[in-house]
Order: sequence, then C-alpha cells, then structure tokens
Amino acid sequence: MEKPREESLGHYEMLWDCSHCDTKKLLGKTHRHCPNCGAPQDGTKRYFPSDDDKVKVEDHVYTGGDKKCASCGSAQSAKAKNCGQCGAPLGDAGDVGRVTVPKPVKKKSNLLWYILLGVVVFGVLIWFMCIRKKEVAMTVTGHRWAAVQEIEEYREVGEEAWKNEVPTGARQISCTRKQRSTKQVQDGEDCTVVKQDKGDGTFEEVKQCKPRMKSEGIDDDWCSFRIDRWTKVEELKAAGQGLEVAWPAVPPSPVKDGVGARRAGKKEGVYTIELNDGKNNRTCDVSEGTWKKYKDGQQIKAKVRASSGSIVCSEL
Ligand SMILES: [Zn+2]
Ligand SMILES: [Zn+2]
Repeated sequence: MEKPREESLGHYEMLWDCSHCDTKKLLGKTHRHCPNCGAPQDGTKRYFPSDDDKVKVEDHVYTGGDKKCASCGSAQSAKAKNCGQCGAPLGDAGDVGRVTVPKPVKKKSNLLWYILLGVVVFGVLIWFMCIRKKEVAMTVTGHRWAAVQEIEEYREVGEEAWKNEVPTGARQISCTRKQRSTKQVQDGEDCTVVKQDKGDGTFEEVKQCKPRMKSEGIDDDWCSFRIDRWTKVEELKAAGQGLEVAWPAVPPSPVKDGVGARRAGKKEGVYTIELNDGKNNRTCDVSEGTWKKYKDGQQIKAKVRASSGSIVCSEL
C-alpha cells in the first residue's frame, strides 16, 4: 500500500471546559488559565471543537507537546523550566497526552456463526446421504473393452493467434486490433481530513490523499492465418468381450510425406468389468491395470454408496 500524500490545512485551538466555574469551550493555547475564575487549564481534558467552534492559530510555532505539572496538574509549555502556576520544577514532568478521534466501531454480527453452522450441517447431511459407503460381496462375471484409434492427416488448417505468437510457416495472415490485457492507471485521488492533537493546546488538520486507480485496456494485433498441421480426420473403432484387446489396424499412408500424408494418432481404450451382487448385474469402467487384475468368476468385496446402493468403481 502506497503512503498517502499529506497536506496541512492549518493549526487550530483545542478546547477545554473549566471544572471550577463550568465555563465551556475555553481555548487550549490562548487560555492557559480560565478567564472567568483563574483556575489553571487541565491539559488532559482537552477536546476537538466542532467545525463551527474552530479557532485558527496563525503563524503557529510548534515547540513540542505540553508537560503536566506533577504538583498542581496544570498544563505547561514544553519550553518552561518551572510551573507558571505553582512554581514547581518541571524537569521530569510527564506529557499531557493527546486526544485521538475515535474510529467508528463496527457492530459485531452473529451472522457469520450461523453461516458456519449451516455449512457444517449441510456437509454432514451430504456425507450421510451421498458419500457414506458400505461393503458388498460380488462376483466378477466378465470383461468388456472398446478401442478407439484416431487417424491424423497432414493438411492446411485455419488458426488464430496474437501477432508475436504466429508460428513460422503461417500463410495468408490477416490481423485486426483487439484488447489483449489491462493496466492500472491513476484516475484522481480519494482524500480525507484528519485532526492531529499537537499536545500544546492546538491541533492540526491534515488532508490525506490516496491515488484512485482504474484499469485501462491495451490493444494488440489478433491474426488469423493458414498453416499445415497434423489434424485428426478419422476414428477407427472396435469392441469385444474378454481380456484380449484387438486394436483397429492403421491403413498405410497414401503419400510418403507432406500434405496428404496420414499416420496413427491418439488411441484410447474403455475397459469395463461386469459384476453381480447375487441379485443385480453391475458394470464399472476402470483403468486398464485394474481391469486386468480381476479374473472371471473371482469373489470380491466392493464398496457401494449406503444411500443409493450404486457401486464405487474408483475403489475397485
Ligand atoms: Zn473557571
Ligand atoms: Zn504547578
């Protein structure tokens, strides 16, 4: 976080009330004694004035926060060696302290606890209804497989990319401007005025400003082009029973290389185990390794969902 920019709006008198004769709104710097009854100012009881009661201190020279006389309690200038009220030495007298403007206190809310409780109850409910499992004895009754062999051809295709990412070998390139990213730029300032007690009967109003940011789009060239790529053009499929997978044969390429050449692409198998729990037939699609692990006729303990009875294939 950036340090806010600060600007002084001037110095003003703190206020105090005389506790002897009850005169209100006496000036912290000008009235070191009550003009009505002569009682000394208690520097710890100063307060900030309302905007209507603000009194400006012109050409203010700040010499430090006031000291509080240990004998009589009156506020004395930081420069004074002896108390102007009772004459006591001020050598190790303490500071009068500063008044701070209290920050507004946020109301505490129980809402968060109710939300948390709701989430926990919902979680337990989901576990009980859907996740809880039990074991059931089953017999492996068979194996099935389905095989897909992709065929690729080297041919011209259309693609799009940012100009700096267009690959070599691209042809018929045509580009348009388009927003690629954003950046943060300054858009004015957000300012607040704070009151700072200087501790000598005055306070300073300070304007604190933080830059306000907004995001701005950055454009770049977005290009479409033609290029030669290995592209999926066909899927050869086969399926069967038992543990022997017969992959579809890949036909020879019509041309040796270049555009029009063909080759084997990705291949994918689906491996299914057939089971029976004494009443119903069930099936599970599993990995090739799991599929080969079980023999036909084998007795196993399989996990099922306690609520729905559906088999948990991932735990075979
Ligand atoms: Zn008074
Ligand atoms: Zn004193």
